[in-house]
Amino acid sequence: LPLCKKCKLHFEGDRCPQCRTLSARASKNFNKALNKPIFFLLAGAAAALIAGRIYPPLDRERILVLAVVLVVAPILAHIVSYARRRKPADPALPKKAYSWSAVSLTALALAVFLNGAGDRLPARNVQAGVLHKYVYRGRGMSYSLAVSSWRPGHNEESLHVSAGTFRRVREGEPVTVEVHAGLLGLPWYGKISPLKANAYPISR
Ligand SMILES: [Zn+2]
Repeated sequence: LPLCKKCKLHFEGDRCPQCRTLSARASKNFNKALNKPIFFLLAGAAAALIAGRIYPPLDRERILVLAVVLVVAPILAHIVSYARRRKPADPALPKKAYSWSAVSLTALALAVFLNGAGDRLPARNVQAGVLHKYVYRGRGMSYSLAVSSWRPGHNEESLHVSAGTFRRVREGEPVTVEVHAGLLGLPWYGKISPLKANAYPISR
């Protein structure tokens, strides 16, 4: 019979009748049922990140919010199903939630990828002023620029750039941004370069 570590009590079934803690075996079975859908969710999230790096949409933030919701929702279902004190621990709901989120994230990744890869329209070069430069230190360095927006209804755009581009641009000076319309109507950006490349020699 399983032993509740908290109550020092042997009990029958999935939960300790006193504190409702799940037995080790029931807990293990619950988690095991979720391994595969969690793996697919992570794969979908990774695919979405990669697609967003190759063909970065200008409205990345809005897509990111959607992606975060798709990751957080099944985690909440997971916690609730695991912790519901009076009910047997049933992985069916979180399993369904993880699977739906995984499918949605994969579809999102595919949409972002197709939006760029299938875009056959010529790119447009727009000029924007650099407002701020940002460096993020994570596992690696990540560089981004906040530039004035050329789109009606937008104040600024946040653009990821390479380390080289980052060094060559300066706050307050203009850059040229290669903008694509997007096959699915999600505008995305390509090359970013200082407007007068020769006027600003590479420093350090
Ligand atoms: Zn107990």
